[in-house]
Order: sequence, then structure tokens, then C-alpha cells
Amino acid sequence: MAIAAAHSFISSSNLSFIPSHTFHHRRHHHRPQSPFKISAHISLTTPPSPTVQPKLNNTGVIVVGAGLAGLAAAIRLHSDNIPFLLVEASDAVGGRVRTDNVDGFLLDRGFQIFITGYPEARKLLDYETLDLQKFYSGARVYYGGGFHTVADPLRHLADAIQSLTNPIGTIVDKSLIALTRIRVLTQSDDQIFSAEETSTIDLLKRIGFSDSIVDRFFRPFFGGIFFDRDLETTSRLFDFIFKCLALGDNTLPAKGISAIPEQLAAKLPSNSIILNTPVASIDKQESDSKSESTYTVRLNNGEVLTSDYGVIVAVEEPEAVKLLAGKSNGFPAQIRKPARSTVCLYFSADRSKVPVHDPVLFINGSGNGIVNNMFFATNVAPSYGPAGKVLVSVSLIGLHEGVSDEDLRSKVVDELSSWFGKEVAGSWTHLRTYRVKFAQPNQCPPTDLRKNPKVEPGLYVCGDYRTSATFDGALVSGRKAAEALLRDRSLVQAS
Ligand SMILES: Cc1cc2nc3c(=O)[nH]c(=O)nc-3n(C[C@H](O)[C@H](O)[C@H](O)COP(=O)(O)OP(=O)(O)OC[C@H]3O[C@@H](n4cnc5c(N)ncnc54)[C@H](O)[C@@H]3O)c2cc1C
Repeated sequence: MAIAAAHSFISSSNLSFIPSHTFHHRRHHHRPQSPFKISAHISLTTPPSPTVQPKLNNTGVIVVGAGLAGLAAAIRLHSDNIPFLLVEASDAVGGRVRTDNVDGFLLDRGFQIFITGYPEARKLLDYETLDLQKFYSGARVYYGGGFHTVADPLRHLADAIQSLTNPIGTIVDKSLIALTRIRVLTQSDDQIFSAEETSTIDLLKRIGFSDSIVDRFFRPFFGGIFFDRDLETTSRLFDFIFKCLALGDNTLPAKGISAIPEQLAAKLPSNSIILNTPVASIDKQESDSKSESTYTVRLNNGEVLTSDYGVIVAVEEPEAVKLLAGKSNGFPAQIRKPARSTVCLYFSADRSKVPVHDPVLFINGSGNGIVNNMFFATNVAPSYGPAGKVLVSVSLIGLHEGVSDEDLRSKVVDELSSWFGKEVAGSWTHLRTYRVKFAQPNQCPPTDLRKNPKVEPGLYVCGDYRTSATFDGALVSGRKAAEALLRDRSLVQAS
């Protein structure tokens, strides 16, 4: 895979990273001639001393942050043969999309679903290699002490007919779901993102959904997607997700959710990504030319990187605010609050102790308790656990800061004992708890889900907080940031 650990790279000679072919300054030139030597051309220097000014070598573009947005930006630059360096603070690519292997269980860092209907993802990812494992299209709602199925009639007609009279909503509600589907499918994504907006809860009420389907289905289902059970999130995001759900399947890659960023990283040249390398600041360099500014990137260890064409900041919103505060009047000085948080608890179980074998998502429509949704991950993707074992994934909304991990665990087990029986849930072994403070940006109205990536010429931003708080939004924002840079630097015509 095309990833170099920064420490090994830094501790070896810098020369190992300098390409044999010099990267010439190409500003004002049109699309660079191909083949163009693609190696990040960069040197790490010590900070300037008062007497000696270091000579900084340049790379084309520096991308800060190797989450989905940063990876997509790098892929777009690479497709135009623009040299770049992707600098990542942590020990792997993926950002929020990571998986840990714990005793043979694949633990995604928080419950995440990949919807195959995401339009940008379809263009970038090879779904076959990801070996996507499908969820049941619908959900099983815990309500009134029992389970009730909500099924997609186009995929599970018999179940959908059977569920028409269940207490999760009226027959009118179920026909309104069909009408909503038609409405979103007849709109382009651009129309959805620029449509008049309200909160999701207001939209559902305006459409005419009953309180019962809102409370028993929409709150736990979309609340689980937005990490917002109040459904204050913009109706634009609701419509976009609703459309993607209609167009595709809910899936998990067989090797864990991190297979998605790993596949993207594998498209990039070796040595173009450095890990374990947090960026401390991004600084504008004085230049003779007023029209073109250059930026340097200072690492936590004091070393400095420079770029010819610019810097793309692809870090999550709270980090972006820290790095870009004061860089532009237009860039907000703080994140929108509350940011969306979640807790995900994993348990292992013996197969004989799990009464459910289908790949269905359980949601809590009871209005009580702290569990929002749960599922048996190995029922969806058997590769998520060792043979004979079941991986149980339980998600809560919010951070539950005042409650210790141990208390949270026992509350969850008690609650799920009332769902499945004490002899079932009581036998599960806790594996790990993930508390994700910043799972998604707050996207309540008013929103602009197509924010301009340009802070100023030479400095660009991307990430899910610039577009929609989804995998797809992050990918789109990364591509758009790269395209804005290429356009500004006259490197390529925007596509
Ligand atoms: C628990 C959870 C569940 C989710 N579920 C879904 C889902 O089901 N479907 C969906 O579509 N979306 C889901 N999302 C949202 C989705 O994961 C994000 O929208 C998307 O991954 C954001 O990507 P990003 O590149 O914008 O940011 P990030 O993934 O946050 O990437 C930013 C990167 O920048 C790096 N970085 C930060 N600071 C620095 C620095 N100073 N120097 C260098 N590097 C730095 C970080 O380490 C990180 O790698 C979920 C998110 C979470 C957390």
C-alpha cells in the first residue's frame, strides 16, 4: 500500500524522498505534460534561524489530513499528474473511517454503513473488490415489548405487505414513504442541496407522517444516521440520504469499513502519504507577486514543508478551525454546536446464544432507554468475527460523558436483556467501547452543503463539514477543493 510512515522516512535520509526528477515550478502553465514524474518532491527543514534562511524545496500541493476528503483531493490531483504530499497526523489513513482488529473481530470505530447509492463513491470505488455485504433493506423496530419489521417493498415485498398493519405507522404513512421516495428520486442532487430547507422533523410533519411513525421509525433510524434523535438536521441531508437509500444497498465491506479509505490510498503513488505527522500551522509566505501567495506547512516537530501551488486542508471541522483561525474573514472562528457524538459498544457472543440470524438493523422505537440501534455484525458480514462467534454492535447517540464505561456497559446489557432475554444478552462478553466526540458536524438549518473550498488563492479546505456529513460529501468536497486549486493555478480546466 502507498503509505510511508513518517518516522521511518524522517529518520532515514531526506534524500530517500527526493525524486530523481526535479519538479519545476509550473505556475501559469497549462496542464503539465505527461508523463510527469510523480513523486512528492519535498524536503523537511529545521525552522529558520535568525541568521540562516533554509532553502526550502517544494512540492506541488500539500494536502493536510488523509480522511476521505484528503484522499479524494489527492486522487484528483494525481489524475492530473500534479505532485502532492498527503500529510496525516495519525497512524493510518481513513480519519473517522477506521477499523480495529481485536481478537479476530473487526471493530469499526463507531457504527458506519456504506450506502452503495452514493454517487461520488460509485465513481471512485471498486465495489466488487470491497466485497460489500448487504444489510436487510429495512429495519426491525423494538416497540411495545416486541419487534416489528419495516421493509422496503421493492426489495422485500412480502415482508412489506405483512408489515402494513403493524403499529410502527399507519397505512397512510407507508404510502407517504413511497411518495417521498418518488419525490427525491425525481430531483437531482444539486436540486436537493439547493432546495428550500427546514429541519427533518418539520419536513416529516409537513409531509403528513403520523407521530407514531416519526417516533417509532424516523427518530431512531434517521436519528441514528445523523446522531440527532431530535431530527433538527437539515431536510436537505434527509432527502439526499433517502435518495441514496432508494438507489442502493446498505452494506459493510467484508474487511471492515477501513477497506474504503485503504482502497483509495492504494490509488496513490508510493511515498505520497506520510503518517504520524501532525501539522501545527499553515502560514502564508510574503511574495513579490501580489496575485500569488504561497503557503508553508509547519509540522509539530518544527519542520517546514512548502508547496508551489497551494495547500488543501482536509482535517475535521474542529481541527480546521484551529489551523485556519484568522486566515480569512470568511472562515468561521468556531464550529457549529452541538457537534454530533456517539458511543459504540461491541460484545462477542457464542453463535448458539444469538437467536437472530438475519442481517437486519434493530432500532429502538420504544422511546425508552439509551440504546438507539444495534445489530449482529457477523450476520451481515461473517468476516467481522472468528468462526463460531457473533459480533454484537450497539450504538448510542451522544457522548454520555457523565457515565463511566462500566456503567454504560451494564445499562446496555440490562436494556438488551429486556429485548432478547437475560440469558442471551447476559452471556455476551464486552470487547471495546468507542466514544466518538466529533462524529459529524452539526448540519441544522441554515446550511450550505456546497461551500466554496477556496479560503484564498493557494489555500483550500475540504471535509464533510463543507458539504454533506457523509462519506460521499467528504469525497465530493475533496475533489472540489483540488479542482478549485487546479483552476486558480491555471493547471487544468475545471471538469
Ligand atoms: C461513528 C461514525 C459513524 C458514521 N457513520 C456514517 C455512515 O454510516 N455513513 C456515512 O456516509 N457517513 C458516516 N459517518 C460520517 C463520515 O465518516 C464522515 O463524514 C467522513 O468520514 C468525514 O471525512 P473527512 O475526510 O471530512 O474527515 P476525517 O475523516 O475526520 O479526516 C480528517 C483527517 O485529518 C487528520 N488530521 C486532523 N488534524 C490534523 C493535523 N493537524 N495534521 C495532520 N492531519 C490531521 C485526521 O487524523 C483525519 O485523518 C460516520 C462518522 C462516524 C464518526
